[in-house]
Amino acid sequence: MVQADPFENATKQLHDACDILGIKDEGLREYLAMPNKVLRVKIPVKMDNGKIRVFTGFRSQHNNDRGPYKGGIRYFDPEGGVKYMEREVMALSAWMTWKSSIADIPLGGGKGGIFVNPRTEKLSKGELERLTRRFAFMISEIIGPQKDVPAPDVYTAGDEMSQIMDTFGKLHGNTHQPGVITGKPINMGGSLARNVATGLGTAYCVREAAKTLKLGLKGATVVLQGFGNASTFAGEYLEKMGCKIIGASDSKGDIINTEGMDMKKLLKWKKKKGTVVGFPGSKKVSTEKLLTTKCDILIPGALENQITAKIAQKIKCKIIGEAANGPTLPEADPILYKKKIIVIPDILANAGGVTISYYEWVQNNMGYYWTFDEVATKMEGHLVRGFNDTYEMSTKKKVDMRRAAMALAVKRVVEAFELRGLWP
Ligand code: NAD
Repeated sequence: MVQADPFENATKQLHDACDILGIKDEGLREYLAMPNKVLRVKIPVKMDNGKIRVFTGFRSQHNNDRGPYKGGIRYFDPEGGVKYMEREVMALSAWMTWKSSIADIPLGGGKGGIFVNPRTEKLSKGELERLTRRFAFMISEIIGPQKDVPAPDVYTAGDEMSQIMDTFGKLHGNTHQPGVITGKPINMGGSLARNVATGLGTAYCVREAAKTLKLGLKGATVVLQGFGNASTFAGEYLEKMGCKIIGASDSKGDIINTEGMDMKKLLKWKKKKGTVVGFPGSKKVSTEKLLTTKCDILIPGALENQITAKIAQKIKCKIIGEAANGPTLPEADPILYKKKIIVIPDILANAGGVTISYYEWVQNNMGYYWTFDEVATKMEGHLVRGFNDTYEMSTKKKVDMRRAAMALAVKRVVEAFELRGLWP
């Protein structure tokens, strides 16, 4: 199957936002579309069998008008090969620019990675560490606390972040520079509340959307698609706000109980059985049934491309909070808009993660650390403003929330670009 070019998609969205904002200057559009820099590196690694294997890595730095580049590093092998991965990281770096801008954090957009699948290839711990450290060495000149601050992404986590931080510090006069990367373990300078950040941020946005609809959250019904990090914390916090969870799912199946399900008990069941399926009192349903069940709030929190035009026609909720990235197909957006369903787009609904990464970076740069509540409260402010600003743009320009969010993000970057001016 020929895969769509992700960078072309990102560019199309940008032009759409420019149309909404009335930006006609072709040069400015090109400036906003293209990454400032894309570095492709060769990474030779001595494997456990004594042989050298050469990997390919990337770092795309899209825009830094509002602050240092920010975005994850993934270890992945997309079907389209190395060339496709380059286009993918370019697109993802652009989306990071817009996400940072929506959350109104003073950071730009970057993304990178290595073409490798550490799970299927079963790289040893030692091989993985040598690969990570050599990659950090190859990109060390373009990253730094005031230049470009990477983070974890697909198949990378705290271990890789610690190794990149350590390699970078050793290459820079053996200094301690935790602000070069986020997503570190707490003991290495990570931030409290990062684990719950994405789901909590989604819950804050949903709460704001409910206010605009004058929908009380007490007893409001919620369906969660997925039962991982993003969706379970969204569910737990919405439950704390008074909502009732009536649907949930994971890779093994989908369940519904219109009477409501207790999140703590559901989490315990999932931990014991490895799935939500079979939870006492629930009935197993199809994915289509889960997504189209009558409820107040739908949280697609697992996979891409779930809400098609066909599903959108049948959806019977008032608010969709996109905890996952890309759960709604473009064909579904106009249908949902016509049905007056408030869609909180992924770029905003899951921005709690990058916002707390920003606060990790702030704490690292200060050398002073905040409590869980301090970090969570600061994040709340960003997402509440992000929601309200997007809602206002959507009403003013008469466009759906997704297009409004992009327009707002682009507007802020253009303002920063114009304030800086072009030099030299
Ligand atoms: P995760 O691995 O913790 O959870 C994924 C969940 O999806 C699992 O419960 C899995 O069982 C479920 N799943 C897989 N296939 C499914 C299927 N066919 N039907 C229903 N459920 C299925 O992942 P996560 O970190 O929660 O990420 C989920 C989404 O949120 C992704 O799109 C990710 O990009 C996005 N996101 C996450 C974060 C974060 O901080 N975790 C930040 C931004 C965006």
